[in-house]
Amino acid sequence: KADFAMFLAKENGKNNYEFYNEELNQQLKRRMIIESYLHKAIENNEFSIHYQPQFNIRSFDMTGAEALLRWDCELGKIPPDEFISIAEETGLIIPIGEWVLRQACKDIHQFKEHGLKAFPISVNISTRQLMTPNFIERVRAIITEEKVDAKLITLEITESAFLYYEDAKDNISELKKLGVRISLDDFGIGYSSLSMIRNIEIDELKIDRSFLHDSITNERVYSLLDTIIQIGKKLDTKVIVEGIETEEQIGMLSNYHVYGQGYVYSKPIALDQLFKWYKRTFEKAKSI
Ligand code: C2E
Ligand code: MG
Ligand code: MG
Ligand code: MG
Repeated sequence: KADFAMFLAKENGKNNYEFYNEELNQQLKRRMIIESYLHKAIENNEFSIHYQPQFNIRSFDMTGAEALLRWDCELGKIPPDEFISIAEETGLIIPIGEWVLRQACKDIHQFKEHGLKAFPISVNISTRQLMTPNFIERVRAIITEEKVDAKLITLEITESAFLYYEDAKDNISELKKLGVRISLDDFGIGYSSLSMIRNIEIDELKIDRSFLHDSITNERVYSLLDTIIQIGKKLDTKVIVEGIETEEQIGMLSNYHVYGQGYVYSKPIALDQLFKWYKRTFEKAKSI
């Protein structure tokens, strides 16, 4: 009986190995194809930005939006979770990231042309970008060339930046001197959340959506969410909760003075749709 089980395990192992190998080959192939298309994506005009609005949880006023990169090429629509890591590994994230920042700056002006007030936009920055020697100069150049008030730009960085803590710290203070705001994305799921905010004045914490999702059913997670929000308050840091999907979650969060972003309000949308959202907030403000 034991022999038979061993025989089965061996057979299985072999099959798994072959299957695994085949799967790995397919993944490598897809990666290489994506990489070759990614090299031409900017010149082929294949990128666009979708914006996901952010709201004051209590007043429902729209307070800003996050720029999320979209790529539509001959292969179809490739999600950022798939192509951003390839862009990071190949260094293509440098020109791509500059493209996103510049486009976001141009879009800010469109709000003024529509007669709307200044509009704050958040742009995701990869650690690889942050650690590039001339990154701060490039950000300064783009903001100046596009004539955008630095206060309107928030750069979202992730905790992985802090694997390179000393350099990241200096770069972040330089960025803050330019006047841009700094947000810590996916806060709470990295290694070093607390040591990071200990020494750097971060303007905003974006609490990772996993804390929200589990907090309705799990008391411990709720306590953590509550504590993270209090930390943000005590440090005088704006707190945004990511991935709000239900009215119930909005209800729970309205106990706090926080901001929110998520499908319950809106998915990431094209710029002209965003105008409509913002007009509502704007008109509400005028009518008071
Ligand atoms: P992120 O910065 O944490 O952005 C939030 C992601 O959560 C977005 O996915 C957004 O569509 C999604 N999301 C928003 N609300 C909800 C919700 O209620 N439920 C759920 N399940 N998801 C929600 P997206 O657009 O696919 O982007 C994925 C990640 O790719 C981003 O995560 C960001 O890390 C990266 N990314 C996107 N654009 C850029 C970019 O221009 N530059 C860099 N470096 N990274 C980018
Ligand atoms: Mg983000
Ligand atoms: Mg991010
Ligand atoms: Mg996030």
